Amino acid sequence: MNPEEILRIAIVDAHIMTETTGGRATRALIQEMKRAGMAVIEIGTMEDAVPAVVTAPDVDCVLVAWDIEGAESLIRMIRSRDKEVPVFLISEPGTVHTVPLPVIRQVNEYVWITEDTPEFIAGRVEAAALRYRGRLLPPFFDELVNFSRDFEYSWHTPGHAGGIAFLKTPAGRIFHRFFGEQLFRSDLSVSVEELGSLLDHSGPIGEAERYAAKVFGADETYFVTNGTSGSNRIIFSGSVSDGDLVLVDRNCHKSVENGITLSRSVPIYLVPARNRYGIIGPIRPGEIEPDEIAKRIASHPCQSISRDGPPGLAVITNSTYDGLCYHVPTLESLLGLSVDRILYDEAWYGYARFNPLYRDRFGMREGHRDPGDPTIFATQSTHKLLAALSQASMIHLKAGRSPVEHGRFNQAFLMHSSTSPSYPIIASLDISSRMMDGGWGKTLTDETIDEAIAFRKEMIRIRRELGAGEPGADWWFGIWQPDEIRTGEGRVAFEDADPGLLRTDPSCWTLHPEDEWHGFPGLEDNYCMLDPIKVTILTPGIRRDGSPAAEGIPAEIVTRFLEGRGVIPEKTGDYNILFLFSLGITKGKWGTLLSGLFEFKRLFDEEQLLKDVLPDLAAAFPQRYDSMTVTALADEMHRFMSGNRQLALLRSAYSQLPAVAMIPAAAYARLVRGTVEKVPLDQLEDRVVATAVVPYPPGIPLLMPGERTGTADGPVIGFLRALQDFDTRFPGFSHEIHGVERENGRYLVYCVSPEAE
Ligand SMILES: *Cc1c(COP(=O)(O)O)cnc(C)c1O
Repeated sequence: MNPEEILRIAIVDAHIMTETTGGRATRALIQEMKRAGMAVIEIGTMEDAVPAVVTAPDVDCVLVAWDIEGAESLIRMIRSRDKEVPVFLISEPGTVHTVPLPVIRQVNEYVWITEDTPEFIAGRVEAAALRYRGRLLPPFFDELVNFSRDFEYSWHTPGHAGGIAFLKTPAGRIFHRFFGEQLFRSDLSVSVEELGSLLDHSGPIGEAERYAAKVFGADETYFVTNGTSGSNRIIFSGSVSDGDLVLVDRNCHKSVENGITLSRSVPIYLVPARNRYGIIGPIRPGEIEPDEIAKRIASHPCQSISRDGPPGLAVITNSTYDGLCYHVPTLESLLGLSVDRILYDEAWYGYARFNPLYRDRFGMREGHRDPGDPTIFATQSTHKLLAALSQASMIHLKAGRSPVEHGRFNQAFLMHSSTSPSYPIIASLDISSRMMDGGWGKTLTDETIDEAIAFRKEMIRIRRELGAGEPGADWWFGIWQPDEIRTGEGRVAFEDADPGLLRTDPSCWTLHPEDEWHGFPGLEDNYCMLDPIKVTILTPGIRRDGSPAAEGIPAEIVTRFLEGRGVIPEKTGDYNILFLFSLGITKGKWGTLLSGLFEFKRLFDEEQLLKDVLPDLAAAFPQRYDSMTVTALADEMHRFMSGNRQLALLRSAYSQLPAVAMIPAAAYARLVRGTVEKVPLDQLEDRVVATAVVPYPPGIPLLMPGERTGTADGPVIGFLRALQDFDTRFPGFSHEIHGVERENGRYLVYCVSPEAE
C-alpha cells in the first residue's frame, strides 16, 4: 500500500498503559486497528494531544476517552477548527449521562470500550475514517492522485514522460531528485481525458472550478494559470474593444495597463487619495459620482471614442497594496450608476470571504442581488496570500445586468491561455479552495489576524516602554493604525484593547472621519477599512502634519538591514515598510522581525559603521560608504530628501492627472514601429511618453503611455529629477522605476518621436 493511503488514527486515553479493565480493552483495540492496517498514534496526555490532533492535524479519526482530564476542551478545540474529522468518544454506558449536550453534538460516535469487541470498534473506526478520507480531497486533485497511481506509459506531452527523460543525463538526474518523482508524474497534458480540460472547463477540472465558485461565493469561477496578470487581461479582452471607455483606478497593476493597450480601450482614471506618509488611499466617493464621471467623459480629448452608452468596465484595486478595503455596497451604489461591469482586482485579498471581519468589503460578497445590479468580476492571486503555487489565480464572476455569455467570454480566456496549462498549478488552485472550505477558512484567517494583532500590540508596548514619542526620549518605530479603539464604554488605547474585539469588530479598523491617525480626512464613515494583516511600520522622519521632521531614518536603510538578516518586507516607501501576514505565518514568526528592528536600533544608536551594518553596500561602494556610520547615512539621506522635497513633489506629481495626447494602444503602436526615442530628463518637457513610467514606491503610474510630461518645472519632471539626483547621491539605493532606462546615472524615457505625435 502507498504510505499516504494508510489511515491514521489518534487515540487519546490516560489508561493506555494501565492494568485496568479499561486499559486492557484499549490496548486490545489498538492492536486490532494495527492488525487491520491502520497507523495508530497513542497519546496519553493532553499536552501531547493538542499538537497531534489540533494544531497540526494529520489524522483521519480521533478517539478521545471521556475520563481523561480536559476531554471536553480537547473536543471543543478540535471542532473549532475542523468540522469534519470523525471524533469518537470512548466511555462506559454508565457514564454517558455525564456527557454534556454540547459535547454530544460534537462527537460522531460512542465507543463502549469494555462492552463492544475490538473487531467491532475497529471496523466502525475504519469505516468513518474511510468516509472522511473519501470526502477530503477536492475534485481535480482527487482524480489526479488516482491517475498518477496508474503508472501509464505516456505517448503524449509533456515529453519528459513522467520525469523519465530527466534521468538520461547527470544534470537532469539532479533536477529529478530535487523535485521528486511525484511532481513529474502529475505534470500531465490535456491529452489525458480522465482529468478534463481547462480550456473548455470540462471533466474534473470543470468540477474543480465549480467547487471553487461555491467556496469563493461566485456564480462562476475560471482557473487561470498565468497569474492575475493573465486574469485581468482576459477580462479586458472579454469586455471592451476598440475605442470603448473604461474607468480605471490609477492605482492599478501593470496587467491592467496591458489590458487597456491590448483591447485598444480608452482609460479614464480614478485618482486615489494619498496621505502625509505617501500611503495610497481609496478613491474618494466624489471621484465616482455620476456627474463627475460624465464630466470627465465629455471632456476627454480623444475624438474616436464611443460616448454612447456607459463605459464597458470599471477596475478597482481592492484591497490596495497598503491594505485599505472598500465598503463595496457603498462603492457599487455610486459606481454602478455609471458602469455595468466592475472588476475588483483582489490580487492580495483572496481570503476576505472567509472572515466576517471583511463582511461587505470584497467583490463576491453575500447578500441579495437584483438582476439589474452591475456584473461583478473579482480576480485573485491565489498564490499571493492563500496557499497555492506561483501563477495560480482565479477569476470569479457574479452575474448582473451586463451578461457574460460563457461561450463568448471563453474566447478571451483562450486568447490568454496556453494550450498546455500546468496541472500542478491547477491542483494547487483546487486544494486552495478545499483548504478554505468547511470552516477552515475562518480558522486560518483568524490565526493570521491574531498574529498580526499580537505583533501590532507588541510594537506599541515597546514604544510605550521606551517612552518613545515624548520629546527628548528614546525612539522606536511607529505603526500605521488607530491610536484608540471605540468600545461600548468609551475609548481605549490600541494596546489595551481586547484582542478578541480587534479580531471581530470591523469598526476597530475603519477610517473614521474624525480620527487623524490615517491621514485621509473627510472620508465617509465605514467607507474604507484597514486590513489588520497588512502591517505598515513607520520609520522616524515625518511629522503628523506631513512636514519633514528634523531627524529621520529613510525606510530603505532599515529594509536593507532586515534583508541582510533574511527578513524580506513586501514593500518599502520613503518612511514606511509594509509587512504581510499571510496564511504561511507561524506563531511568533514576527519575533524575528522584532529582533531585527531592535538590532537595527542598537546599531543606529551606537553609530556603528556601515561596513558592519550593511556590509554588502559598503563593499560595493567602499569610497562612498566605508568610513561612514549608519547614523550619518540616515541623517544625510533624510536631509537630502527633505531638501529636495521628494515627498512634496511626489504628492503634487500624483495629485493631478497629466494631459492625454493619445490612447495607450496608439503610444504602444509607435513603440513597436520604432517611431520613438529615448529622451533624458533635461529634454523631457512636453513630450508624449510611449511607455508607462512607474516609480517604486509608490508603484502607481506617474505617466501612462500616451500622456504628456508637462513643463520642465512641473511636478512630473520635478519628481523624476529629484529621484535621479537621489540615485546619483546615494549609489546602491537607486529607485526602481519601470519605464526608465539609465545611462551613466541619467534617466532616459521612451517618448513618441515628434513627427509621430
Ligand atoms: C500582483 C498583482 C497582480 C498580478 O498578479 P500575478 O498573480 O502576479 O500575475 C494584479 N493586480 C495586483 C493589484 C497585483 O498586486
